[in-house]
Amino acid sequence: MAEYHCPGCGYTYDESTGDDHEGYPPGMLFNDLPDDFVCPACSVRYKEDFVSGKLDESGSSDEITS
Ligand SMILES: [Zn+2]
Repeated sequence: MAEYHCPGCGYTYDESTGDDHEGYPPGMLFNDLPDDFVCPACSVRYKEDFVSGKLDESGSSDEITS
């Protein structure tokens, strides 16, 4: 299971937990989300804007730049 992060607001979609509030059950893969998925938190970032990977505690990641 992977995590995907919104580059705009920091929202995290975790495939292992899904997002029940948005109607995505635990285990639902990010790739299986609807193509018109937008970030539930900021509503301005689309699926293709999300970046994959876990954030480490130092906050640094090659895939996350701010
Ligand atoms: Zn967002």
